[in-house]
Amino acid sequence: QFRVRFAPSPTGKLHIGGLRTAFYNYLFAKKYNGKFILRIEDTDQDRLKIDSIQNIIESLEWAGLEPDLGPHKNDNQEDGPWLQSKRLDIYHDYIKLLLDSKKAYHCFCDESRLSLLKRNAAKRQEKLSYDGKCRHLSDSQVTNLISEGRPYVIRFKLEDKEVVYNDLTTGIHKNNPFKQEGDFVLIKSDKFPTYHFANVVDDHLMRITHVLRGQEWQLSTSKHILLYEAFGWKHPVYAHLPLICNNDGSKISKRQNDIDVLSYRRNGYLPQSVLAYLSTFGGGLKVNILENFFKNSQNVLGELIENFDETQMSSRPVKLNPELLENINRRFIRLKLRSGKTERESLINELRDLVKNKFKMENSDLYLSIGYLESVLDWSQDRIFKLKDLVDDEKNMFLWTDMSNVSLDENLDLNTKENSKVLVEILRNFLSKKCEDLKNASSNAKLKKELNELFKSISKSAKSDGKMNYWKLSRLLLTGRLEGPPVLDIINLLGKDNVIYRLNIAEK
Ligand code: GLU
Repeated sequence: QFRVRFAPSPTGKLHIGGLRTAFYNYLFAKKYNGKFILRIEDTDQDRLKIDSIQNIIESLEWAGLEPDLGPHKNDNQEDGPWLQSKRLDIYHDYIKLLLDSKKAYHCFCDESRLSLLKRNAAKRQEKLSYDGKCRHLSDSQVTNLISEGRPYVIRFKLEDKEVVYNDLTTGIHKNNPFKQEGDFVLIKSDKFPTYHFANVVDDHLMRITHVLRGQEWQLSTSKHILLYEAFGWKHPVYAHLPLICNNDGSKISKRQNDIDVLSYRRNGYLPQSVLAYLSTFGGGLKVNILENFFKNSQNVLGELIENFDETQMSSRPVKLNPELLENINRRFIRLKLRSGKTERESLINELRDLVKNKFKMENSDLYLSIGYLESVLDWSQDRIFKLKDLVDDEKNMFLWTDMSNVSLDENLDLNTKENSKVLVEILRNFLSKKCEDLKNASSNAKLKKELNELFKSISKSAKSDGKMNYWKLSRLLLTGRLEGPPVLDIINLLGKDNVIYRLNIAEK
């Protein structure tokens, strides 16, 4: 059975790059009926961020990438626990094996010596390369230094040799870690393992068969392979996924706050849009997969699993493309609205939450009713990219704002003011008498005709200069803005009660 893991360090919020890694692991596991494990790599105690684990779990849950095993479920089953800080005993058992076989050694070099080495390396324009001084300490020297209470780390004894392996995405990869940085640390002075050590021990003990991770980890892979060899273990298959860059080519970073997974949720993107978007980040899927989704798919994840082919994954860097995400999201919103009742309801609920969070509503029954939210959604299909546009875009504010906050006077000249008074009166009378369903297309055409005639007759009446655009003026009275959607749309959307309510306010 294939087993893969997503192994984030809880150093902040899960961002789109991390989600991409989780996503490809998930697809791989599901395609082969394998196991998808969440392992939290919390060995760097200085960089831990509170709430990060919760954020990772919640982000995966939102995206629908539920792990089979992880710290939040079945923690003590199979090969758990899945939180590295709960596995310190295990790492100590395994480091003993390497110490006993002389493949690792204690190093007592202090900070000042290491920084001297670092400075010298920098002068030669090289990275710090540990010179192996403590390799040569005898067992009794080591015992003495430890009993003196001298702090130490445990390093891996590297051989000067090139490691070659075949990566599933990038092909043959060669690297000599010895030349790069010398003997690297396995156990730190705080007794915690380093990433490299814990990662290898866990991948082995958790019986991980395939490691799919971001390309930034590829240089570490040769170190890991040497560790596997030192233990006499077989290493997993590796696939390094392409780097993700910003649109301008710069690297994405955890500090960017618009790319953490839950910010996509906050911004009203649908989880399946984010997944469909991610499926364009690294190959491994049929090119026309996006078009497939828009034709029929209720089950985007299912379709992705079916079409996933790990041998087609690419190694070319990819760029974030927010516009693509917006377009995908627009199409999914449209699709959802045309799908079944549950799909519609979930959109309605999401929109209701967005509206509730954003506005303090006095007339919540006018704005939060299912009927109203539903007509707003239907109307908005080709006008928005994400639900949040409905509550954020200035041009959509009329949907939610009570007109008592809008000052009409600033927008009106004297002549218009006179006209608007007349118009309010006439419109209100006219609409109060309407009792047919305003949303029906044929009554809409009729309404348009009637309103046109009404406006003509006002023009003919006194005080009007004939150039007044009553459609615009009506829009202003109803939305506070001269420009915007067609007045009939506005009337249909708001509904009779709300329109009359707004006209009453405009009058004051
Ligand atoms: N803890 C590493 C990270 O934060 C995991 C890298 C790996 O998958 O080996 O991404």
